[in-house]
Amino acid sequence: MRRGPVLCASASLVALWVTAQAEPAPQPIHCDGVARQAGLLRCAVPRGDRLSLISASGQLVREVPVPADGQVTLGLERDAPDQLILTANDATLAPLTIDIAPRQDPFREITGFDCDKVDARTEAQKAHASRSWVKKQAAFKTFAEGPGADGGFRRPADGPTSSPFGPARRYVGTRADGSSCDRVSVHYGYDIAVPVGAEVRAPAPGTVTLGDPDLYYEGGTVFLDHGDGLVSVFMHMSEVTVAAGQSVAAGDRIGASGNTGRTTGPHLHWAVKWRNPGTQDRAGDFYIDPALLLELAPVP
Ligand SMILES: [Zn+2]
Repeated sequence: MRRGPVLCASASLVALWVTAQAEPAPQPIHCDGVARQAGLLRCAVPRGDRLSLISASGQLVREVPVPADGQVTLGLERDAPDQLILTANDATLAPLTIDIAPRQDPFREITGFDCDKVDARTEAQKAHASRSWVKKQAAFKTFAEGPGADGGFRRPADGPTSSPFGPARRYVGTRADGSSCDRVSVHYGYDIAVPVGAEVRAPAPGTVTLGDPDLYYEGGTVFLDHGDGLVSVFMHMSEVTVAAGQSVAAGDRIGASGNTGRTTGPHLHWAVKWRNPGTQDRAGDFYIDPALLLELAPVP
């Protein structure tokens, strides 16, 4: 008689053990991509619908939504902290700590600069610049479906890199009226040295959200929304052959390079903006380094 309950207890323990073994182990958060300042992470978040990015000092950097497929595309700022802790709003998922490699962007000073070449001075120029600004803001507010960075990126034009992403430039010069100008700006694009008329191709599939031959600063411009919040921006084009709403495949011709807008010579300026789909406030979006996107392997 004494053995009965003991056997029962053992049986229960065996049953519990079997149940525990049958449950799949919780999948951790996993990221690949380029863990470098201005790079991009592609993270699989198996549970939860919100991912928080927290710095090593405990500061909330931002929150992003986790889509139904659990795949989060995460841009990293040019000055991202050296460590990020990713936490989903699901207690069964352990936080993931990611080390972010620092950049070492040079600082350049450009003297003897013709400030009137860049500044909108006349009423007509100011009106042109403000119309251009409105068009850009409207395009950045739309979000297209697409594979995002899943298929990787290819060079949009055949030519050497003439100016990488990242350096800060200080422009010192004069205006036509003799007054001086002095300002610092960061190069948030990736310049490819190509002559006027060279083919410009989509670096990844996407939907055109802006195709304009004549923005004030940018000249001939194309915005290409790849999905997952990633937008490619192409500037100074001599020809724009796509229009808003059009879908393009990777490698499709979207126009030709040029020397339009406020430039100092023919080249293609390619920039990529990461936008947080979890907020309507576009002020927190930022540019990432296109050269790092070229390092991304396609998702198998
Ligand atoms: Zn540029």
